[in-house]
Amino acid sequence: MKNYKIGLGLLIVLIVAFFAGCSNNNQQFQAASSPVPKQITIQMIDVGQGDAILIRTAEQVILIDTGDVAARAKLIRFLKQQGIGSIDKVIISHPHADHLGGMAELVANFTVKQVYDSGQPTTTALYRRYLATIKQKNIPFTILAAGDQVDFGNGAVFKVLGPRQPFISEEALNNNSIAGKLVYGRFSLLFTGDVEKQAEERLRQSYPAELAATVLKSPHHGSRTSSSPPFLRAVAPEAVIISVGADNEYKHPHKATLKKYADCKARVYRTDQDGTITITSDGQSYQIVKER
Ligand SMILES: [Zn+2]
Repeated sequence: MKNYKIGLGLLIVLIVAFFAGCSNNNQQFQAASSPVPKQITIQMIDVGQGDAILIRTAEQVILIDTGDVAARAKLIRFLKQQGIGSIDKVIISHPHADHLGGMAELVANFTVKQVYDSGQPTTTALYRRYLATIKQKNIPFTILAAGDQVDFGNGAVFKVLGPRQPFISEEALNNNSIAGKLVYGRFSLLFTGDVEKQAEERLRQSYPAELAATVLKSPHHGSRTSSSPPFLRAVAPEAVIISVGADNEYKHPHKATLKKYADCKARVYRTDQDGTITITSDGQSYQIVKER
């Protein structure tokens, strides 16, 4: 009798879970009935001062930014430890060294099937080498702009919200970072690159409703010039993840910015203290796990 009750309880849970998973759209219905694990994993890799974010669905491996040059060996080691052989999509938010620095090593170690960037050029040798490598390896290359959508597989979609033409200023690489919202069922994560106040304001005016996200990638490593209060109110994140190097010369994250996150009651995770931060979601709920 006891076993029967447990069995009935489990059956009810399964039925509820099945219909909950089906309620959003047809794509989810297909995913729920297939043997493919219905989960997304997002890892903000501890690469010191810089960004490198690994996203995996059952169908694709995506990397947003590649950390700084100094962290390139660490990035490659991490990806190999994860058993990754090829990368379906690399998105470079903007061409500063702390986002682009690992690209040459990445392409030397893995098959990269597609590269996206913001389309804003710069004059550095690092950037010129990056373009030359893409050309030499014949990697498909696409410029992203507000309104585009990139399929991450298994129903996960990256909705591009910025940059928008005309660029904010030709010199302002940070403000013209690719910003976009990863949506997976009810879970969402807003990626911001290194946008600062001007770009945040433009995002807020262009997408007043769409900015709302479960988790926010802290813009520009938690700098004082980003995370303006109206922007944070529009995003209303439950958690903020900051990619930042210990004792970095820029003093990121700024204490005024940490106070703003506290004021909006968001839980804060930061790679200098927590190590690599791993977020998993089944499209309904989510978990955030710290390396240390
Ligand atoms: Zn940066």
